[in-house]
Amino acid sequence: MSVLVTGGAGYIGSHTVAELLASGEDVIVLDNLQKGHSGAVLADTFYQGDIRDPQLLDQIFTRHDIDAVVHFAADSLVGESVQDPLKYYDNNVVAAQRLLSKMKEHNVKRIVFSSTAATYGEPKRIPIRETDPTEPTNPYGETKLAIEKMLKWCEQAYGTKSVSLRYFNAAGAHPDGRIGEDHDPETHLIPIILQVALGQREHVSIFGDDYPTEDGTCIRDYIHVMDLANAHWLALKRLRETNESGIYNLGNGTGFSVKQVIETARRITGHPIPAQMGPRRAGDPAVLVASSGKAKSELGWKPKYDSLEQIIESAWNWHRNHPAGYRSHI
Ligand code: UDP
Repeated sequence: MSVLVTGGAGYIGSHTVAELLASGEDVIVLDNLQKGHSGAVLADTFYQGDIRDPQLLDQIFTRHDIDAVVHFAADSLVGESVQDPLKYYDNNVVAAQRLLSKMKEHNVKRIVFSSTAATYGEPKRIPIRETDPTEPTNPYGETKLAIEKMLKWCEQAYGTKSVSLRYFNAAGAHPDGRIGEDHDPETHLIPIILQVALGQREHVSIFGDDYPTEDGTCIRDYIHVMDLANAHWLALKRLRETNESGIYNLGNGTGFSVKQVIETARRITGHPIPAQMGPRRAGDPAVLVASSGKAKSELGWKPKYDSLEQIIESAWNWHRNHPAGYRSHI
């Protein structure tokens, strides 16, 4: 029995592949390498291609005895999604529809889906619970929510069981140092800060200090990528054991402001990390913090790296050893 991981060459996908392999799963990776890196593919079986390619999916589902799909392959930048929503409907919604059709055709009935806190939009209360209203404020969150809803109807019609995992802010890297975060262009706060510490950028821009928070900067719930990866494995196990679908938040339940993240990175790297105040970024809610009680009680999830220090330290370990990401020759 094998697990197909779409987007398994990407940041969260590759860390999940590492976790699945460590748990003894037979893993097949499918990735078009638009954003992913061949150096991040840890599985022995790798198909480079697109989930919208019906022949390729037929080939994979026919050749391998796949009992579940873990689906990451997607575009995930809020700002870009506002600029080019149709790209997000194509790469996210259309692609998921194609994948689900092929799963149906080949009688594969389990899927773990990479969703996001962006499905909530501006939160009505903190911490956010899974039952809170979902009113996305950008096409990225909207397309992920559309897929969650597609999964619900597929369950009703075809019996496809799914677990959707709504991530808060993923960060950090695998403790063995082999894989980490490498985006081009980089837009995420922690890697940007570490690029400053490596001398690759002059400063970090703080996107607004007039939010209704204690220091005026946005608060986010940072979660270690290996804890996220472990949640996928637990979700898969639960799907196999109970055959029950579900939606789960994944975060640490503690928020840190942009200024606190920069301050912590200064302590860890020993670099002054100059920061400049800039304007707000469109679509950023002031505070996003998860309640992950449901994942803890139903999936048995226990985050191992629940301090911001541990998260930044592991990211720093990767960035220091791979200053050019997967292009580094070390
Ligand atoms: N942020 C910032 N400067 C940057 C990048 C991000 O101030 O160069 C802020 C951003 O506005 C948000 C937080 O850092 O409040 C986390 O942003 P990131 O892009 O890492 O993740 P997101 O919350 O968008 O998923």
